[in-house]
Amino acid sequence: MWATVADQNTFDYVIVGAGSAGCVLADRLSSSGQHSVLLIEGGGSDKSPFILLPFGLYRMPRKFDWLYKAEPDVSRNGQVDRWAAGKVLGGSSSVNGMMWVRGDPRDFDRWAQEGAEGWSFDDVLPYFRRAETFEDGSDLYRGDDGPQRVARTHVKHVLTDAFIDAADQAGFPRNRDYNGKVQTGGSYAQCSQGRGLRWSTARGYLRRARKRKNFTLWTESYAQKVVVESGRAAGVIVERDGVLTTVRCNKEIVLSAGALSSPRILLSSGIGPAEELKQLGVTPVVDAPGVGKNLQEHPVGTVLVDVNVRTLNQETSSVHALRHALDFVVRGHGGLTGTAAQAVVFGGLQDGAPHTEFEIMFGPFGVAGEVAPDVSDQDATYEHDVHAMKLAKTPTVTILPCVVHPRSRGEVTLAGPNPKQSPKIRHELYGDPRDLDDMVEAVKVVRRILQAPAFAKYVVSEQVPSEAIGTDEQLREIIPAISFRGEHASGTCRMGSDEKSVVDPQLRVRGVRGLRVVDASVMPSLTSGNTNAPVIMIGEKAADLILSSDNV
Ligand SMILES: Cc1cc2nc3c(=O)[nH]c(=O)nc-3n(C[C@H](O)[C@H](O)[C@H](O)COP(=O)(O)OP(=O)(O)OC[C@H]3O[C@@H](n4cnc5c(N)ncnc54)[C@H](O)[C@@H]3O)c2cc1C
Repeated sequence: MWATVADQNTFDYVIVGAGSAGCVLADRLSSSGQHSVLLIEGGGSDKSPFILLPFGLYRMPRKFDWLYKAEPDVSRNGQVDRWAAGKVLGGSSSVNGMMWVRGDPRDFDRWAQEGAEGWSFDDVLPYFRRAETFEDGSDLYRGDDGPQRVARTHVKHVLTDAFIDAADQAGFPRNRDYNGKVQTGGSYAQCSQGRGLRWSTARGYLRRARKRKNFTLWTESYAQKVVVESGRAAGVIVERDGVLTTVRCNKEIVLSAGALSSPRILLSSGIGPAEELKQLGVTPVVDAPGVGKNLQEHPVGTVLVDVNVRTLNQETSSVHALRHALDFVVRGHGGLTGTAAQAVVFGGLQDGAPHTEFEIMFGPFGVAGEVAPDVSDQDATYEHDVHAMKLAKTPTVTILPCVVHPRSRGEVTLAGPNPKQSPKIRHELYGDPRDLDDMVEAVKVVRRILQAPAFAKYVVSEQVPSEAIGTDEQLREIIPAISFRGEHASGTCRMGSDEKSVVDPQLRVRGVRGLRVVDASVMPSLTSGNTNAPVIMIGEKAADLILSSDNV
């Protein structure tokens, strides 16, 4: 239904969501000065030390999160997960762990095989390069004049060096740049930071757009649904200050509200599985059976190891804090620039694996509390909350193995006909037993690395899962209790060439003219690692697709 406010708000492009992809679009679509662009964001300003300063990650205020809650995960003893999603300028790039990982080049060739024509690695590489300014400069694979700053980790620790050496000894050779030609091997982490500060897409891209006269930004504005007139997306109904407003568009509407919200907006607009919509009291406009399906997430396990040298979690005294603070202020280095991990190892679980199959993240710091449940308690569930992390008191390292190509699929549906309701999220982290088998193997790879000479000399004992858990069967039993989601929700508006895909390879929503989805939702399958860099690439390529199309 059209809102009551006068329809004076008309723009060429209307983008919903100022997150990783939405900020890229805001910048690129407005850059020529020829088109009027409106960006609608549900959250507010990102001016906060918790966002700007990397260590703010572990104390992120809740107001920056949509705080979605999922249905119980029966594959993990009924665990009810909170699915974090940034609700602020920059979206999840403002609240994420800042890991910068493009993925295995073969991920994108796989996308092309899955029907995403034009998205092979050769096709997307120019967009990865265009996006970034990498601190080591450019080569055939890396960029040095894009809006997105990328740095190597500036947190040095003897155990990080030892872990990379041990990975080498365990058969995963050193790789200087996992975002280059080859992903596999062991490396220092790269991160979305510049001068030791978080570099969100709001900082990299949106700041440029905001200087332009043809660009308009609405914050604290909630997009309820898209209005479809005669088969064309004509406007968006937005709630601002408690008032419903309708914005109209001359050219295109782009949904970049993230993998949990973009499908919710489509479904509330009547674009989705017709029968399901009718049962929920929503009048179907386009029968699009794939909307909200294909929800994918990375399972991440936990290995905590007690070590015999001091780790960063112990450096909280005033003397250490002062040293880290000075290092941060003077050089943009040190413990205060810490990201989710300081080293990464990518590899296959079997010889000749077609893809990277696991990512192992290493941190020379120990976590405690909910991240380290009592593993002897079979009923323990494991709530991981990166935004409220507790540190261990003893010297401990944290190693997080991640199965990067999970087969488990969930879905996002409507909770009811009211577009203000949060989406309903159903997902089982180990809904497919093969993902659990892979995690068992990934934990065994971690143990192999820990036992290699370069690291073994530092190990006192394995705290989680614990040395008592030795057999595959024991690991299979304990892993669901020590696993959590990688925060990489994706796939809910799948791109493909088949009729059941939600968007075509130009990211146009099937069955509606003038409407695209551009965000993590469109990934046909998850990439090998953290998802911010691939989403930014999607935004970059989408901008070219939009600007080169005849969309009037
Ligand atoms: C806690 C956390 C840690 C992570 N760590 C990493 C990491 O270390 N490295 C990495 O590569 N990836 C990480 N990720 C994943 C990565 O950040 C996301 O995949 C990526 O940012 C998704 O981009 P997007 O554009 O799809 O969505 P988002 O960036 O989430 O943007 C969606 C935007 O839309 C807005 N929005 C939603 N609904 C509406 C509405 N109805 N009306 C108006 N606006 C709306 C939101 O407020 C948000 O700003 C992490 C994610 C989280 C949540």
